[in-house]
Amino acid sequence: MRALVVSVHDVSPLTQASCDKIVQELRGLGIGTASLLVIPNHHGKAPVNTDPGFKEWMTNLVRQGYEPVLHGYYHARSAKPTDTRVTRFTTQFYTAGEGEFFDLGREEAVERLHRGMDDLAFLGRKIYGFVAPAWLLGYEAEAAVRKVGFSYITNVGSVKVFDGVHRYASRSLVWSTRAPWRRIVSLAWNQRLASRLHEKPLLRIGIHPADCEIPAVWSQVKSIITAALQDRQPLSYEKFVADHLEPAHNAQLPNGC
Ligand SMILES: [Zn+2]
Repeated sequence: MRALVVSVHDVSPLTQASCDKIVQELRGLGIGTASLLVIPNHHGKAPVNTDPGFKEWMTNLVRQGYEPVLHGYYHARSAKPTDTRVTRFTTQFYTAGEGEFFDLGREEAVERLHRGMDDLAFLGRKIYGFVAPAWLLGYEAEAAVRKVGFSYITNVGSVKVFDGVHRYASRSLVWSTRAPWRRIVSLAWNQRLASRLHEKPLLRIGIHPADCEIPAVWSQVKSIITAALQDRQPLSYEKFVADHLEPAHNAQLPNGC
């Protein structure tokens, strides 16, 4: 059966209420597992390891089969006076300053990754996946992710496994809701993308906390998931990687797109 991987981005104490609503509504549709992209200290304001309510909520979800994925440390990247025009476009206009791992040095990235893993140690299990905030991962930061021992990373266009298939191309659906014009473009783009990916072995759907607050967006997310569940099995990224992309299995799937 073909696969559906749903990921919930930006999971933190700041977004817990929206993320819980998303998880519950997805469960109502038949999604009982997903990858939860956790920010250990969202914008420096929400340390997960000192928030008992968040820890309990997250621990329960992991026990039920949801996958925790490390999603940066603070998530935000401060603008620098030395930023080029392209860097400013990429990190400010395109992502609203959320590309924490866009140009981190290797040493600093290693330190934040270790700190993130320590902060999520309360979950009592190994974390295999790392997804950079805004999917922006620089060369040095990627080397750090590999060095620290993560098995896979994702970006908007692929899933990359360090010990198996080098890069599995698969475009993720994701909605941009920061401004009305972005929502309109997103709705049209994702509808077309969902049709284009209809026959592909893997369908990836990335959901952000704000998506469930915008009726047109949330309705489209749910309708695409409902259609996908007709002939796709919902999996977390770690399960998809283990079942299809690790060395023993990497001949099973043709490239995604
Ligand atoms: Zn994010």
